[in-house]
Amino acid sequence: MSVPETIHRLKTELPTDTRLVAVSKFHPKEAILEAYEAGQRIFGESRVQELCEKQPVCPKDIEWHFIGHLQTNKIRQIVPFVALIHGVDSLKLLKEINKEGEKISRVIPCLLQIHIAQEETKFGFSFDECRDFLASGELKSLKFISLHGLMGMATLTENPTQIKAEFKSLKNFFDELKKNYLMDEPFFNDLSMGMSDDYEMAIEEGSTMVRIGSAIFGSRVY
Ligand SMILES: *Cc1c(COP(=O)(O)O)cnc(C)c1O
Repeated sequence: MSVPETIHRLKTELPTDTRLVAVSKFHPKEAILEAYEAGQRIFGESRVQELCEKQPVCPKDIEWHFIGHLQTNKIRQIVPFVALIHGVDSLKLLKEINKEGEKISRVIPCLLQIHIAQEETKFGFSFDECRDFLASGELKSLKFISLHGLMGMATLTENPTQIKAEFKSLKNFFDELKKNYLMDEPFFNDLSMGMSDDYEMAIEEGSTMVRIGSAIFGSRVY
């Protein structure tokens, strides 16, 4: 299926309140434009340098999401334009983003990345680290952060039962946080979970944002 055909198919398939992030990492500007012509406006990139090369040469109304692991020394390059940072995986990083936002007087929309997979290598807050942070009230002092929700990645496994259980645990945790700490945060509404191989399960479990790359653009050449 071509890029435009897949975009159209996904748009009809996804629930109306689920947003599609087209993950264009490792694919050239031409691929982005093909998806753009088909009506896609949200694109996700996982490397700062690549994002900063593409953003100036692509249409201005694209909403750029950063979905990768963000190093503190690179925050400055994306804060002027990034629409959402999905992978905020530590308090230190959140504070640094706040600092860089303050320098340019821009509030930065962020998702906290929660570790739900069994693999050691996936980044993120544990449930308890996240609870402790929100219970501390420290978020209030981070005036240049707008907390929009949570992001998570399931274990890379063939076992759908496990993947579903991990997504379910993240959705339950999201609801718990909203109820206990974030009732007054009007923007805490997003749950970013689901990729090419598991987005259907993620949607069943309450995802509001799916990050789909290879199913749209084909496999990546690293
Ligand atoms: C690459 C990537 C995706 C997209 O993965 P696909 O399997 O190609 O859909 C989604 N989320 C994150 C964080 C990624 O790094």
